[in-house]
Amino acid sequence: MEQVATAQSIWQKLKNKQPVVISGPCSAETELQVLETAIRLAKTGKVDMLRAGIWKPRTKPGMFEGIGTEGLAWLKKAKEISGLPLTVEVATAKHVEDSLKYGVDILWIGARTTVNPFSVQEVADALRGVDIPILVKNPINPDIELWLGGIERMAKVGLKQIGAIHRGFSNYGNTEFRNAPMWHLPIELKRRMPELPLICDPSHISGRRDNLLEIAQKAIDLDYDGIMLETHIDPDNAWSDAKQQITPEALGQLLDAIVWRQ
Ligand code: PEP
Ligand code: MN
Repeated sequence: MEQVATAQSIWQKLKNKQPVVISGPCSAETELQVLETAIRLAKTGKVDMLRAGIWKPRTKPGMFEGIGTEGLAWLKKAKEISGLPLTVEVATAKHVEDSLKYGVDILWIGARTTVNPFSVQEVADALRGVDIPILVKNPINPDIELWLGGIERMAKVGLKQIGAIHRGFSNYGNTEFRNAPMWHLPIELKRRMPELPLICDPSHISGRRDNLLEIAQKAIDLDYDGIMLETHIDPDNAWSDAKQQITPEALGQLLDAIVWRQ
């Protein structure tokens, strides 16, 4: 399939408030998994962009920490085959350098990185003079100034296309959501920076499959500019975030069930 969308067309869609749908596995695991996910997502006709974690910030050592740079070649191939542009999480200057080498279209900063100004600055410095959109996830703690600080660090190195991703805020113990949505925080962010595209990540807010639709619908009702949802060809056996991933076809059904804004 020919590539139809580009970082620029995705950015335009975000700015025009036509909700952008980003999907793909929590982690790139194998070449086959990445290619099959991309093909099945493209087949739904409802997905704008392919996401995948290449370097994974895990809570404990010994968990799967990402396939690393080799996975970027799989993603590049997936983009060629499916026509879906790519977005990847970056946490270091090396991640930025490698992602740019493999033609990643949009970068994102993860919640565990946004909490650390040294890391955010390292990523920002690696992007000086580069023209690429970047999305900054909220920090895991409910600190809106830190979130804004991350966004400001990107703006200060000259990046012009900056957006935010709301993925919820960490909790202690068993709670309804893996990460409390605290909807008032992204709403306040948007009040302070009205031009900033805002994307919701129901997968990391929920941590489960059964309420993804409800969270995604709320984001659309609140006028978000896009949603990012994790998908896997075999969700129960995913190497990370197995409980919250759904198949590409289930994503297609979820997207059909959303009442979109007119
Ligand atoms: C992810 O998107 O897979 C991820 C690691 O998310 P977060 O940074 O929100 O935890
Ligand atoms: Mn994940």
